[in-house]
Amino acid sequence: MAAERDLGSAIGGAAEPFGPPAWRASVVRIAAAVGTVAVTVAFQAVAEPWLGERAPLLLFTLPVLGCALYCGRAAAMVAASLALLFGALHFSDDGLFSRADVAHLIAFAVVSGGIVLLADRLVRTRLSESSRRESAEEASRNFEIATRELERRERHLRSILETVPDAMIVIDERGRIRSFSAAAEDMFGYSEDELLGENISALMPSPDRERHDGYLARYARTGERRIIGVGRVTTARRRDGSTFPIDLHVGETKVGDERLFTGFIQDLTERQQAELRLHNLQSELAHVSRVTAMGTLATSLAHELNQPLTAIANYVETSRDLLDNGPDAEAVETVREALAECAAQSLRAGQIVRRLRDFISRGESDKRVESLSRLISEASALALVGAGDRGIEVDVKLGRGVDDVLVDRIQVQQVLLNLIRNAVQAMNGCPTRRLEISSRRADVGMIEVVIADSGPGLPPEVGEHLFQPFVSTKSEGMGLGLSISHAIVTGHGGRIWAEPSRLGGTAFHFTLMDAGDKDDER
Ligand code: ADP
Repeated sequence: MAAERDLGSAIGGAAEPFGPPAWRASVVRIAAAVGTVAVTVAFQAVAEPWLGERAPLLLFTLPVLGCALYCGRAAAMVAASLALLFGALHFSDDGLFSRADVAHLIAFAVVSGGIVLLADRLVRTRLSESSRRESAEEASRNFEIATRELERRERHLRSILETVPDAMIVIDERGRIRSFSAAAEDMFGYSEDELLGENISALMPSPDRERHDGYLARYARTGERRIIGVGRVTTARRRDGSTFPIDLHVGETKVGDERLFTGFIQDLTERQQAELRLHNLQSELAHVSRVTAMGTLATSLAHELNQPLTAIANYVETSRDLLDNGPDAEAVETVREALAECAAQSLRAGQIVRRLRDFISRGESDKRVESLSRLISEASALALVGAGDRGIEVDVKLGRGVDDVLVDRIQVQQVLLNLIRNAVQAMNGCPTRRLEISSRRADVGMIEVVIADSGPGLPPEVGEHLFQPFVSTKSEGMGLGLSISHAIVTGHGGRIWAEPSRLGGTAFHFTLMDAGDKDDER
């Protein structure tokens, strides 16, 4: 039908805006059929002297064929019918049909039918081929336009991404890198070609390096977001193995059926160095004000301490005199009472000293459930600024299922910061510098954190007075870090102690309250 419509429109002249009406095309085609048959009849009449009586319908195969090719099946059948009518009238001049006439008419009908069918098939094939060619050409034109537009957009996007200072990395659901921006190349020291298809965990230090596939699998399984859309401060690993603090923001997109994650990464080294300087300045200021206040306090405490000390001295002297004079039963009893008094006064002096230490480490405690891995990654990022450049190999090993702790975040970070900085300082000048931060389940309800280094170990003079204030072997040290850490940890209901480390240096251990048995993945 489509073929007929096309031919119709060709014969019927210019197409109307929405195509010619079907009836007009049909009329034109039928008129064409009638016209060609009429012309053939006229030609037949003129040529009869030469053609004679042989095959009078032979010439009519031409209008049938023409109509079948150019006007469609219906017009061809009209032409064939008119030709048959003409033939029937022609043969029945004498009022009778001979056998030969009937055979002639049937032969013409069969030949015309064949012509109509063959021509119709030819037309249809030709049309379907040309329409296929046209649609293929149109599809290829559309494809070219779409490709050009896509290339233009990609160039635009790339130019934006290349100028954005944050590094941008796109990964798929299995963690394989799909795109690695120019800023990422500068930040990590790899080129995009080297990393395409590689696992993103290559850019992470332990323990994220080993666990990242698990994080992705958990997210695919549960849909629970722990970092996507939230952002966090964590640590990344450069090509040379050094680590640096980063601010990471992750977004998720779906391209077709595929899920992609885009990470925007900001190098915090400089920001953290500035923060560190500020932090140091603040703690120095706080320290100075504490020392000043301590001066005032010390004056009044000196008076208070003087009393028990004087009393102790008096009791001891009296006891000594009594014993010198040859002790009788009464004197022994008095000495016993004097010694008991001495003990009581010493305890009082101890309480006064404790009050002083509590004052030094004073701070409002605001305990909440916090993620230990997060506390550790933030504190180590802060403490290790530039440590990668000093060639320190850092290994973080967090125990499974030990992540939630009930703590005051700032205070516990202070402890981590003190211990990590002490370890880093202790390893200064050592040929191998290894730091291991680990956590594991300790006694019931407690989590143990260990900060172990490969330094020279505790100096003997410090070992005996560890955690006491004002004990330091550093020229600029205040000797307060460990005693404040001790006060904070015991204030949290935990313990802190030091042991020789299997890395060769010192391992500081402390315990915190476990706030629940949760999965430790991010
Ligand atoms: P400061 O760091 O101001 O000296 P601290 O109380 O933090 O004060 O530390 C006290 C002393 O303990 C340090 O001066 C150092 O001699 C020793 N120390 C602390 N941590 C370590 C360690 N990881 N390795 C060796 N010695 C250490």
